[in-house]
Amino acid sequence: MTKITDHIAAAKKTLFSIEILPPLKGEDINSLFKAIEPLMEFKPPFIDVTYHREEYIYKKKDNGLLEKTATFKRPGTVAICAAIMNKFKVDAVPHLICGGFDKEETENALIDLDFLGIDNVLALRGDAIKSEGAFIPSKGGNAYASELVEQISNMNKGKYLHEETNMKKTNFCIGVAGYPEKHFEAPSLKTDFKQLKRKVEAGAEYIVTQMFFDNDKFFEFVQQCKQEGINVPIIPGLKPLTTHKQLTILPSIFHIDLPDALIEAVEAAKSAEAIKQIGIEWCIQQSKELKDRGVEVLHYYTMSKSDAVKKIAEAVF
Ligand code: FAD
Repeated sequence: MTKITDHIAAAKKTLFSIEILPPLKGEDINSLFKAIEPLMEFKPPFIDVTYHREEYIYKKKDNGLLEKTATFKRPGTVAICAAIMNKFKVDAVPHLICGGFDKEETENALIDLDFLGIDNVLALRGDAIKSEGAFIPSKGGNAYASELVEQISNMNKGKYLHEETNMKKTNFCIGVAGYPEKHFEAPSLKTDFKQLKRKVEAGAEYIVTQMFFDNDKFFEFVQQCKQEGINVPIIPGLKPLTTHKQLTILPSIFHIDLPDALIEAVEAAKSAEAIKQIGIEWCIQQSKELKDRGVEVLHYYTMSKSDAVKKIAEAVF
């Protein structure tokens, strides 16, 4: 399949792409297909599929004590990628995280992707398990995304963990995450740029940003990347705000600021439908400006729902 960087190089206009989540365990994959189908008319050259690590749940035993069990609530990332490529004939980009994998398991996961003909991967560290305060790498696993990028780059050179000669060179185009408003754990923007540069030096070929609602933050980020010598394509991640609750949820989960004008408009809205319309309109304006400034790809976080993103795509693409 085609590398993201090749899609970008071949594009004659701004591309539309999306991120989706695997369905909750027990749901049908057709519900996901249904959510994506209305967006296919905008011809996304690639679709990202997130990866969700295990969570702990507590089950009451017969003796009344609680038993802690790990469970994956949204399994199936790789299978969904294969199914999407098969059904829609577009490239699928699996997200691969450090958390929960040792390096051997990571290597095997990458071999699976290679065998499936998946040539793009978004390499991430992942967050802490929900009930744990801080990210803890697996024993023998990668602790930072830069280490994961290095492992993938090594496989691209035919260098696996143990065997040294005559190993197949994989052909992964590696993307990484970037944070226009700083990753929440980074002590400063400067140190965060240092770590971002480390990922690019390790072999990352493009960056996808955390969502933002103020384009100036993206433009400053791109400028700063250039100053730091980070010269790979930077794909902005966009999400329409659709509910009043998201005024607090989005900053709390994604560690981003919302512009006062957006907050005030949402606060003044008279209905849930009006709030959704304000969020969609805001995202349309953001998208139009990014497109006018020649941004190569606009990447939408759909949360596996298509209605809001479809309205945006209709207005922008
Ligand atoms: P890293 O690049 O490793 O950075 C993590 C922190 O460590 C940063 O503060 C960085 O400054 C610092 N750091 C990096 N390297 C070093 C070093 N060598 N020494 C000291 N400090 C260092 N999470 C999921 O679980 N599944 C997903 O599918 C998923 N998709 C995402 C997609 C996008 C586009 C984005 C932006 C995020 C996504 N996330 C996902 C969330 C992501 O996993 C978290 O934000 C996570 O906390 C950091 O991941 P990272 O890859 O940016 O980590």
